[in-house]
Amino acid sequence: MKFASLNPKDNSITVAIVGCGGFIGSHLLQAVLERTCWRVFAVDLESYRIQQHLSNPRLEFLCADLADPLVVERIAKFPVVVNLAAICVPSRYMSEAAAVIRSNYDHPARLADACAKSGSWLIHFSTSEIYGKTLADSGLLDEDSADITLGGVGASRWSYATAKLLAERYMAGLSNLDWTVVRPFNFVGPFMDFMPGVDGEGIPRVLANFSSALVRGEPIKLVNGGVAKRTFTSVHDAVDFIFCLFANPEAACGQAFNVGNPDNEISIAELARLMTEIFAEVKGISVAEIPVTQMVDGVEYYGVGYEDSLRRMPSVQKAERLVGFRALTPLRDVLRESLTWFAEHYGIVAE
Ligand code: UDP
Repeated sequence: MKFASLNPKDNSITVAIVGCGGFIGSHLLQAVLERTCWRVFAVDLESYRIQQHLSNPRLEFLCADLADPLVVERIAKFPVVVNLAAICVPSRYMSEAAAVIRSNYDHPARLADACAKSGSWLIHFSTSEIYGKTLADSGLLDEDSADITLGGVGASRWSYATAKLLAERYMAGLSNLDWTVVRPFNFVGPFMDFMPGVDGEGIPRVLANFSSALVRGEPIKLVNGGVAKRTFTSVHDAVDFIFCLFANPEAACGQAFNVGNPDNEISIAELARLMTEIFAEVKGISVAEIPVTQMVDGVEYYGVGYEDSLRRMPSVQKAERLVGFRALTPLRDVLRESLTWFAEHYGIVAE
């Protein structure tokens, strides 16, 4: 690793952010522009979330993706590469498994090869989904010792996790690559995913889907009784974590990190109830005015091959020990911020 730390005041540094126009990328870009003097080489196929920054002289935006080998070579010329690009829409894991695998394995592997050759530090976003088909009583998921079960080959829900896990193993296996892997535990916040039929198709992840239903006055759909549990993490905490990496490259290099908030664990059924309550507060209406939640079967809703992880509880000691990070934003604050944003951003479109 060639950096002791990345000085925020050093205006000779350029960070490449792949997937910069996405949910996490847009928040990261904003923070880099605000907190540092660095330049950003941003790559994405879409840019509507970062529209306000496109004229910033410290930003170069390239409308492209990692499918193009010439783009990969260009990205790897920069000393630090953050890769957030991925197909991560759950309904597509079943219907487009091959494309999901290409996006989550082939492209990152090619980027890893290029970074190994050029000597760039690759900060690659993986997923907490690599922990697979965890059970209701599964305990803390430790980055380096958890055993992983990913379901049969017909259980295409795991196409995404399988590809992400293989990409991690590939990076760890490249002896000359400086790599860091990040495993997000249900990051949420403004600009997350999309509203189906408005700015995206398919079924977005749970927070965006529940928010869409609430904004549209439609029933929330609870898959398989909503017994699965997740720990939701503010995207702002996630951005702070990336800055902890920038400040500690040597400690971060060659490591995979869970980034999550164990204090924010909730079942999906309880999430539906809490989001309904907060949405009523935000809109100044009574909960009785909001349609009753509907139960749906996972395979009927998502398609054949759907399975679920029942509990995803991160061990977060490693991030605290090696780079001094702990997620702090409480669940209620995270949900209120996201729902308020959804109501304001999509309210006019939906009505
Ligand atoms: N889920 C749900 N209704 C929805 C969307 C998701 O009940 O409209 C459930 C889903 O079955 C899973 C959990 O919410 O148990 C989280 O799903 P998400 O798609 O956000 O991603 P995951 O955390 O599984 O990767």
